Amino acid sequence: MAYKNFETQAVRIAASSSDQREHSAPIYLSSSFVFDSAEQARQLFADELPGNIYSRYANPNTSDLIEKVCAAEGTESGVTTASGMAAMFGSMASLLHQGDHILASRSLFGSTHQLLTRIFPRWGITHSYGDISDIVNWEKLLQPNTKMIFIETPSNPGLEIIDLEYIANFANAHNLILVVDNCFATPYLQQPARWGAHIVTHSATKFIDGQGRVLGGLILGKKDLIDEVQFFMRHTGPSLSPFNAWVLAKSMETLAVRMDRHCENAFAVASYFEGNTEVERVRYPFLPSHPQYQLAKKQMRHGGGIITLTLTGGLTRAKKFIDELKMISVTANLGDSRSIITHPASTTHSKLTEEERERVGILNGLVRLSVGLEHVDDIIQDIEQALGKSKN
Ligand SMILES: *Cc1c(COP(=O)(O)O)cnc(C)c1O
Repeated sequence: MAYKNFETQAVRIAASSSDQREHSAPIYLSSSFVFDSAEQARQLFADELPGNIYSRYANPNTSDLIEKVCAAEGTESGVTTASGMAAMFGSMASLLHQGDHILASRSLFGSTHQLLTRIFPRWGITHSYGDISDIVNWEKLLQPNTKMIFIETPSNPGLEIIDLEYIANFANAHNLILVVDNCFATPYLQQPARWGAHIVTHSATKFIDGQGRVLGGLILGKKDLIDEVQFFMRHTGPSLSPFNAWVLAKSMETLAVRMDRHCENAFAVASYFEGNTEVERVRYPFLPSHPQYQLAKKQMRHGGGIITLTLTGGLTRAKKFIDELKMISVTANLGDSRSIITHPASTTHSKLTEEERERVGILNGLVRLSVGLEHVDDIIQDIEQALGKSKN
């Protein structure tokens, strides 16, 4: 039976039950699966029969997760990976060859930036960065060997938005593969494939897990492209553990209700601190003051769980503020049930030069807040007391 609503799909699409008639999917911690006969083994290896062979290829738990996230994203096929970075790396490495060129948005997750600048050049795969604010001029950045466009929207941590419909049309006009890292939005808030993205990647570690427990990633898209990705991933081996896949598939069942609350809390916190004299700027995609508010409204269901605050007093103030927080966690993650604060300029984006950071809006006073599921009054109160105590 096919369900059309997101919530019902996420809850009801599940691995078929075993002869134990369990209601909740069990964990299949098995490296391999037994063949009924030598002939069945041959057929499975030859792709003449669907079915499990070996957990590096597929496992009931990873298949369950893929089916749920494909339904959520509106994609045909997918591959699970051991982490988000394995998904980012795999989406590029499996579809590109020596001599190819990637056009990427300048605002990217730190490790994705390292992939493009330090790792892919070893194999002759080069890149150019385009500014999100200047996307109408990206045509000038194309090279004869450009094969792929790689973007994040909303970007981390600047929360800049790229028009998915525009960039998908641009990619198609130039016969390029468009890859969108949809980690910040999650498939509940935004489905890039519905606007024309060819590949959607996820760090499932973030909001899909949503409780700070496991690492995981996904690469999703049209079957013909995913078949190539699957070939590469099967034989290079960054497979997701069945245990982690089980955790993530269970988390998909609560993604919609969790995201509704993350968004509600994030919007309330952002609105509360906008105009505060200790805060130079508040960024949240669904605040009317966001420069791309209309675009965010067009392609996202809500603004997501991340906000940024640029505090007065720069680096010293930002560090003091973080040290004064009593409840909000200081840790290198996001998309957790617990609110988390990060200072990108000195941590996740410290490898960029100050000029590179300024170009993507990461000022020294900027803190990124992943707004959790605590009561919103407690989140606001913690920020307010830390703002007060960190004043000079
Ligand atoms: C965290 C993150 C990644 C990397 O995911 P891991 O699961 O940590 O490997 C990639 N892209 C974005 C936008 C992220 O936030």
